[in-house]
Amino acid sequence: MAYSINNETCIGCGTCEAECPVSAISVADDGKYVIDPELCLDCGACAGVCPVDAPQA
Ligand code: SF4
Ligand code: SF4
Repeated sequence: MAYSINNETCIGCGTCEAECPVSAISVADDGKYVIDPELCLDCGACAGVCPVDAPQA
């Protein structure tokens, strides 16, 4: 089960992108960030650094 980012909550700060050990996080056309479920290891690092708690298990 991969993490996913709540698009409504994400403020597009990019903090989580640098924390992901497998580079599963990227910015989308709308400026919000998204997680590739094929790459996500479910480590929770993104959730730990997000200021608005947007990544959810
Ligand atoms: S849970 Fe871990 S592996 Fe998955 S997107 Fe977040 S930081 Fe990356
Ligand atoms: S750290 Fe949170 S608010 Fe910032 S880009 Fe990632 S999910 Fe969005």
